[in-house]
Amino acid sequence: MSAIEMTPQKVIIIGSGPAGLTAAIYTARANLAPLVIEGEPSSTSDQPGGQLMLTTEVENFPGFPEGVMGPDLMMKFRDQAARFNTTFITEKVTKVDFSQRPFTVWVRDTKYTAESIIVSTGAQSIMLGLENESRFYGHGLSTCATCDGFFFRGQEIVVVGGGDSAIEEATFLTKFASKVTIVHRRDSLRASKIMQDRARNNPKIEFKWNSQVTEIIGTDKLEGIGLVDTVTGESSKMSVTGLFVAIGHRPNTDLFKNILDMEANGYLQTRPGSSYTNIDGVFACGDVQDHTYRQAITAAGSGCMAAIDCERWLEAQH
Ligand code: NAP
Repeated sequence: MSAIEMTPQKVIIIGSGPAGLTAAIYTARANLAPLVIEGEPSSTSDQPGGQLMLTTEVENFPGFPEGVMGPDLMMKFRDQAARFNTTFITEKVTKVDFSQRPFTVWVRDTKYTAESIIVSTGAQSIMLGLENESRFYGHGLSTCATCDGFFFRGQEIVVVGGGDSAIEEATFLTKFASKVTIVHRRDSLRASKIMQDRARNNPKIEFKWNSQVTEIIGTDKLEGIGLVDTVTGESSKMSVTGLFVAIGHRPNTDLFKNILDMEANGYLQTRPGSSYTNIDGVFACGDVQDHTYRQAITAAGSGCMAAIDCERWLEAQH
């Protein structure tokens, strides 16, 4: 089948979380008429709006003293971008070619070209892969203690994982929870010694070793979990109202393998203090290049940086 070729663009933004949509607002207001390829609604990894579409209430985004629902916040971002002449394509990018300018972005057999690209494809939490996981997301199941810890005041919760993230999340959650149990599949932690010591010395933290979560129990809200002992194979149940999965994150960078420079863990490399990638005219922002902060507000800030870098770079070309 022959390709359908679309009108050349000044800038294409790939991804539509806080970073991509902030980049859209800024590039649109710079008269660059951005085209945002926002992702696919049915997907859990690159759904339009990004990871906030999977959360319920967001209480730490400045400007919303009463809090705001994650999807509502992203709708506001999108409306603001649309107001200033942003075009949206609700599809998933299937291939890119950044080897020559204009750059090419494919959505199946439709070919889009642009003078510049902003990559904001985000990251996703690695999940346990349990059957009803997505249903309980935001209803007792979370992947972000900073975002959701506050909702678990006085409750007993479980954190899954044995790395720095799990220990950090568990320690943070003790500010709210009455008890935090770290469920780990082995009998020793991967986390750094100092973080381990902090957790072991915290009276609110307990460890459940050699255990894997096999089941989420509940009707509308999470009420407990099923566990299996990884050594004896014995099954058990635990009554908890919160389950935090902290077994790592994966950046959505498969599209850019062997094209853009990446860290060993797959996150895109940007020139320090900027959004420049190794390819002139291709910029990256948000969680796809940030494995440290991973907050909506920091993603939005880096989206603004990418838009300004992009605008200045385009200006310098002409
Ligand atoms: P990580 O180091 O890869 O640890 C993931 C943990 O989850 C491991 O303990 C692993 O178990 C467990 N796990 C993986 N898949 C699982 C599954 N399917 N079921 C149950 N458990 C599973 O990831 P991370 O903790 O997110 O850390 C990522 C990087 O960020 C690390 O380099 C870390 O040092 C860094 N980080 C640093 C800080 C800090 O310094 N403040 C905070 C957060 C993260 P096994 O141990 O058995 O493999």
